[in-house]
Amino acid sequence: MLPCSKRLGRDALAPRRFFEATPGAKFFCIIVMRLFYLDESGNPEITGSSGSYVLAAIGLPIERWTACDKAINQLKSSHYLGSTEIHTAWMLRSYSEQLAIPSFDKMGILQRRDAVLRIREKKIEQYKKEKSPQALKGLKKNYKNTEAYIHLTLEERKRFINELAAKIKSWTFLRLFGEVIDKNNYHPPKPGIIPQTQAFERIVTRIEKYLSHISMETNEYGLLIHDECESVAAAHVSKMKQYHIRGTFKSRVDHIIKTPLFVSSNHTNMVQIADLCAYILRRYYDLGEQTLYDVIKTRIDKAGGDVVGLNHYTNNKDCPCEVCRKKRRKQTFSHHSL
Ligand SMILES: [Zn+2]
Repeated sequence: MLPCSKRLGRDALAPRRFFEATPGAKFFCIIVMRLFYLDESGNPEITGSSGSYVLAAIGLPIERWTACDKAINQLKSSHYLGSTEIHTAWMLRSYSEQLAIPSFDKMGILQRRDAVLRIREKKIEQYKKEKSPQALKGLKKNYKNTEAYIHLTLEERKRFINELAAKIKSWTFLRLFGEVIDKNNYHPPKPGIIPQTQAFERIVTRIEKYLSHISMETNEYGLLIHDECESVAAAHVSKMKQYHIRGTFKSRVDHIIKTPLFVSSNHTNMVQIADLCAYILRRYYDLGEQTLYDVIKTRIDKAGGDVVGLNHYTNNKDCPCEVCRKKRRKQTFSHHSL
């Protein structure tokens, strides 16, 4: 087991503690709370879809939360986004209406918004006359999910996301955990287990290992905070109860608070950051988009120089991703050492 300082760097020893003193006790009991925000990217269903399902978690000490939240709000304000929820996948789409407006990038913010909304209103009227109710519903959903971003060009939206990723990189106290499941090659170790459940169990295991490592010097506890979703909430609350009784497939769970919190991503910046990380991981694995992955990968949990916070679940023996390449190198090394 690695010493705390080696695993985390200097931040591990920073004075960010809660102190609990029992009257008459000789020593302080030092307790540190870390918040772990979770979000997913990709469709968790196996049937009718391919590609990856990703569950990501970002962990930070509780006393860092205010500064991080403030920094995100400032960045949003500088891009005229106010308190808008950042949903990366919707934000980075190309909006056809913007392309149809001459010199869109030369317009002011309000002008841009008005011009896009006018085109959208016309399109809705056209769909009402010519398309199926299903198509109209899809169009409205698309418009609703992108409306907060229509005043920014695609380049400006990309710049915002790049700046957000750079912020994540700069938060050296933050740890990123991820489980990437290749649904094309999904053969779970326990029959009938769905990707969502498997990813959750593995993330819980990884966070527990992280907390137990850094608990060598202090008592570290973690609280899981999810984007609220009724079906996921029920499943994860029930799974956490089981893990506290029987452990996960690979470890006991002693450092994570039994009941997760469920919050609205609408109002929770750090869930939006977890969403961004999940999106970046999925785009790296499904489309080979490396630029943003290279920015945030420094925050993936490591032990002794090895990436331990991210796993790629795939049967592809030639997978070129960094995690699989490292796994293969280790296997070759241990085979040669026998
Ligand atoms: Zn891989």
